[in-house]
Amino acid sequence: HGRSSYLEARAWIEVDLKALEANWLLLKAKARGEVIPVLKAEAYGHGALPLARFLFQKGARWVAVATVSEGRTLREGGVDGEILLLGSLHPLEAEEVLRLNLLPTLSTLEAAQALAGRARALGLTPRAHLKVDTGMNRVGFPWEKAKDALLAVEALGIRVEGVYTHLATAGEDEAFVEVQRSRFQRVREALGEGYFYHLENSYGLLLHGGENVRVGLALYGLIPGFSLKPILRLLARPTLVKQLGPGDRVGYGGEYVARGGEWLLTLPVGYADGLPRGAVRFVKGPEGDLYPVAGRISMDQTTVLSPGPLSLEAVLEVLSPDFGPTGLCAWAEARGTIPYEVAVHLSRRLPRVYR
Ligand code: PLP
Repeated sequence: HGRSSYLEARAWIEVDLKALEANWLLLKAKARGEVIPVLKAEAYGHGALPLARFLFQKGARWVAVATVSEGRTLREGGVDGEILLLGSLHPLEAEEVLRLNLLPTLSTLEAAQALAGRARALGLTPRAHLKVDTGMNRVGFPWEKAKDALLAVEALGIRVEGVYTHLATAGEDEAFVEVQRSRFQRVREALGEGYFYHLENSYGLLLHGGENVRVGLALYGLIPGFSLKPILRLLARPTLVKQLGPGDRVGYGGEYVARGGEWLLTLPVGYADGLPRGAVRFVKGPEGDLYPVAGRISMDQTTVLSPGPLSLEAVLEVLSPDFGPTGLCAWAEARGTIPYEVAVHLSRRLPRVYR
């Protein structure tokens, strides 16, 4: 860690593109068809634009985000590849989607009508993927009526390029996943070939294999046990190093009470940066040993105990690319939530460095 930049003076996120590529290749090898990287919510906190650029370079043919504004961010960043919007199109978004040449998902006839109408007015060709509901009951045309929906959408002059559904219980209830897979297969038989069908998500692909798939969590390596590796580290340098006296209390509520003689480091990273309060118990010191958090995590700062004094230039690993006690999965478990939620809450204010 050189002194290259003030961005690496305080607290920052480092994304390991080599590890991303390794995950990408592993997932591509598992899928029989195409792998669509899911880059919504800033690529689950990793940064959507740099990852989109990287993955298109590595042979991705699509990327997927959730919203029109996420699609716009990629377009404005110079991404000219295919961007699928996973969020069901709202009629009021039709014009912007067309202008940005994004690929919307249709779940309703109203949205399809708006898309066709705006396309006619702008002189553009409307294209879309059709979402089919095979059991999640959230968005999509009902699977039993998929053929009618397809015909109605095509009758509006919309070129339907793909058809997909989403699994509700991958990694949780394999029997219901099979119900959804067989419903989707029947949809495929009813609609015929000539469409790009995609189905599995990360757990679906890892546990079962798949043809055309959309993967997020696995790409970021946040699933243990499949040779995937997390690709993100959160690093910080201390802003203060000092020795505590007996009875000194640390932080809000004075919760940590010193025996005396402990070394305390203040790290400039807190819950506003995405550290879940109460779930972050340790950080890793420069030698890789665990330093316990002392007292409550503040909005912008965290205090930890070190075995001795450290230089202000020392680098500590607050979040490690592994499944140990300083890994993101451990934070999520301690917090009683899923890694997705922790990842998307890593703050925008932390600089991202890609190497
Ligand atoms: N497909 C859709 C429609 C999604 O909403 C998501 C994310 O939740 C994914 C695929 C990717 O899911 P995962 O991160 O579990 O691979």
